[in-house]
Amino acid sequence: MRLPIAATESPSLASPDDWRWQARNAATSLVALESHLSLSEAERQGIRQAEAKGLPMSITPYYLALCDPEDEYCPIRLQCVPRVEESQTVPGDLKDPLGEQANEVAPHLVRRYPDRALLIATDRCGLYCRYCTRSRLVGQGGGARSLRELGPAFSWLRDNPDVRDVIVSGGDPLIASDSRITAILKALAGIESIDHVRLATRAPVTLPQRITDELAAKLRDAHPALWIMTHFNHPRELTPESTRACATLVDHGLPIMNQSVLLRGVNDSLDTLKALFRGLVKRRVRPYYLLQCDPVKGTGHLRTPLSRGMELMEQIQGHMSGIAVPKFIVDTPEGRGKVNLAPPALVNCSNGVTTLRTFRGELVDYKDPPAPKTQKSE
Ligand SMILES: *Cc1c(COP(=O)(O)O)cnc(C)c1O
Repeated sequence: MRLPIAATESPSLASPDDWRWQARNAATSLVALESHLSLSEAERQGIRQAEAKGLPMSITPYYLALCDPEDEYCPIRLQCVPRVEESQTVPGDLKDPLGEQANEVAPHLVRRYPDRALLIATDRCGLYCRYCTRSRLVGQGGGARSLRELGPAFSWLRDNPDVRDVIVSGGDPLIASDSRITAILKALAGIESIDHVRLATRAPVTLPQRITDELAAKLRDAHPALWIMTHFNHPRELTPESTRACATLVDHGLPIMNQSVLLRGVNDSLDTLKALFRGLVKRRVRPYYLLQCDPVKGTGHLRTPLSRGMELMEQIQGHMSGIAVPKFIVDTPEGRGKVNLAPPALVNCSNGVTTLRTFRGELVDYKDPPAPKTQKSE
């Protein structure tokens, strides 16, 4: 059996409350999964495919316990159990839909925007999401990149002060050891032109045991302006454990933003999204983006048409607390950047009168103020 994570020995390893136990006991094979879930033929075949090649399977015992053992279409299960449909290719699907390889400016560093860059700090995750946008590289080997391997990326950032925002991602950087992750954050803190850093991790959702007071304090001390970007997709993921993980981070002064991916059969319903966004705000997590699932090879069965996301946003925008409403984002093919799709609000604009459409669908004229008379200074 493949062990997805390099864990270090520790006396607490015997406890399911310890993240290393969770990582060590992650289900990575058909045999392991079979004892927990009644698998369908579509899943069995999907798991065999994943074992043979491509995006590996790894499901932490914690997340596995959230799966309905009898329902292959359970929204939690669809996110983590491979299905036979992963071998199907839809026209237009790509291995690297966001053109990250083409935009690599230094090893492990992707730059697609003027002031932001993405550092791919590891290829490992505690759990491999079946719709991963980086399935071309996650779980493929190498593990957490050492400071030496990341040296050229740090040099590039030092030489390019236009970049003010660095997203530390992967894989999941919190699968690395405390010392590895804090060393990366400290190296970034030492680059003066970087204003803030985002740590992109699904640990609060798939491996909440990773988030301890000790880790949160270390993260806060390693970088003075650190934001946590996490990824909840369904209200069923809002458990006592994930709630505690979020509280620990926020109580240590680390703001959390959430990026959900819109997935067919998982969260493409109004009630599900509303419950998710409300539940996040209640836990002091800000819904930041709802992302259209990227056209990655093997994810066609999980994607919705773009119109579905727009339809859902029509019913959310203005109908819920503004702080609970994320932006709906589609990442354009070939890495041309993210586009925000909002319900159309601008109907007409002429002679200083702008006709706006409200969330109730009413048309309202907004009149610009008259141009101010120029005043002569004495
Ligand atoms: C999504 C992304 C960002 C961040 O975009 P924001 O809209 O600022 O959240 C930065 N770099 C890359 C390569 C990205 O894919």
